[in-house]
Amino acid sequence: MLDHVLIAGSGIAGLNMAAALAPLSRRVEIWERDTEPGAAARPGVPHGDQIHVLLEGGIRALDRLFPRLLSDLAAHGIRPTGMSREVAWLTAPGWAVPLDTAHRMVTCTRPFLESRLRGFVSELANVDIQYGRAVTGFDGERVHAAAEQRTPTLFVDATGRRSKAVSWLGAEVGVDTVDTSAGYATVRLPSGMPAPWRGLVLQSDSANTRRGEIVPVENGEWMLTLVGCLGDRPPPQWDEFVDFAAGLRSPELAQLLAAQDRAPVKAFRPAGNRRHRFDKLSNWPANLLVVGDAALVLNPVYAQGMTVAAQTALAVRDRLERGRRDRLQNVVTASGKWAWFMASSADRRILAGPNGSSGAVDRYLDRLVEVARVNATARSAALDVITLCAHPAALFAPRVLATLGTRVGDIACPVGTALAPRKA
Ligand SMILES: Cc1cc2nc3c(=O)[nH]c(=O)nc-3n(C[C@H](O)[C@H](O)[C@H](O)COP(=O)(O)OP(=O)(O)OC[C@H]3O[C@@H](n4cnc5c(N)ncnc54)[C@H](O)[C@@H]3O)c2cc1C
Repeated sequence: MLDHVLIAGSGIAGLNMAAALAPLSRRVEIWERDTEPGAAARPGVPHGDQIHVLLEGGIRALDRLFPRLLSDLAAHGIRPTGMSREVAWLTAPGWAVPLDTAHRMVTCTRPFLESRLRGFVSELANVDIQYGRAVTGFDGERVHAAAEQRTPTLFVDATGRRSKAVSWLGAEVGVDTVDTSAGYATVRLPSGMPAPWRGLVLQSDSANTRRGEIVPVENGEWMLTLVGCLGDRPPPQWDEFVDFAAGLRSPELAQLLAAQDRAPVKAFRPAGNRRHRFDKLSNWPANLLVVGDAALVLNPVYAQGMTVAAQTALAVRDRLERGRRDRLQNVVTASGKWAWFMASSADRRILAGPNGSSGAVDRYLDRLVEVARVNATARSAALDVITLCAHPAALFAPRVLATLGTRVGDIACPVGTALAPRKA
């Protein structure tokens, strides 16, 4: 049993850690710099206006940490979307046919999801969330705030991408970065895809690095996000935003926007992939744990950050339950390892450009993605890994290999012409 856990930050990572550690602790305090959040984006989470998709791996992890979450979301009209059946996907090699696989995704706004998790954590008898209280320092033992200090059994830094952990440690910490200079812009719309569709994703390919997607969120609204990289960023004005959409690989999102009234565009420039090598430090403070974006930032287009945060919280809990309190930080590194590998490898290929060399593994994966457009076994294996449900080795299983000879013909946009403008 941990006597006193102090968590800095009540974003997704901090709330997951609170849910994971509360049963193993006498007392959990959360210090959150922002005042009590409402349903809107807030200063501490400036990316809260952007699309946030929770992948299957994250749904399963959150279901273990917050067993009432899915029914609570359902009571608010939010049901998981069938990723393969209900979303129209333009993958890098072309359109995918709708198929039934077990992969779901939850789409609601980030502030809404956070507010539901915050509600569950607030109900825990031994957890105390204090708002308007910022951690200002950590000296290897004590945690400092404006007028006080604490010496918790475990201090969890969940302060996000602007964490000061590196300077608090006062040590040389290695950092890996892979940055495609991406830009995000998002609008909320009163209507979206025609039934039965619950989403449309236009991925980039080697010739066109723009990406766009639309998903349903709470209150019957939809969120449409455009993403660019290598300095080609969607602008925050409506007309230019619509123009940017016209440059996507396929016209559906531009057609959809053309039928909408103007709406405010919220832009954000995310950091690239960044991994602090805390696991390499030999003199790590025994009572410190750095989690979430404070430890590992992933390019958000791969939608992995919330899933990694939830899986990390579970992995830390599992280790503590086994009576192990040593090298907890290595559990954080291990939990994000494959997400890092996938996001940074994909972005290295973008940075290398269309003429960059690709190895045998890249060519194998390219073929798998091509076959996954029509073949359920290949699709399932790819989605298992992409949604962080399975180890990447699953992509090389004999039954997956056996699909690679599948013929893939021409596939049209499965939504058909439902979004095209009607003739006058
Ligand atoms: C544009 C964008 C889109 C994204 N889309 C997705 C997606 O589709 N799917 C997905 O899974 N992930 C997505 N992510 C990533 C996801 O938001 C994060 O990885 C995840 O929420 C974990 O964040 P966090 O809790 O570590 O940090 P944050 O969400 O940044 O929370 C940090 C918290 O710490 C508080 N804080 C900061 N400093 C202090 C201090 N000194 N003292 C006390 N409190 C402090 C802040 O106020 C805040 O509440 C996206 C990220 C971005 C930028």
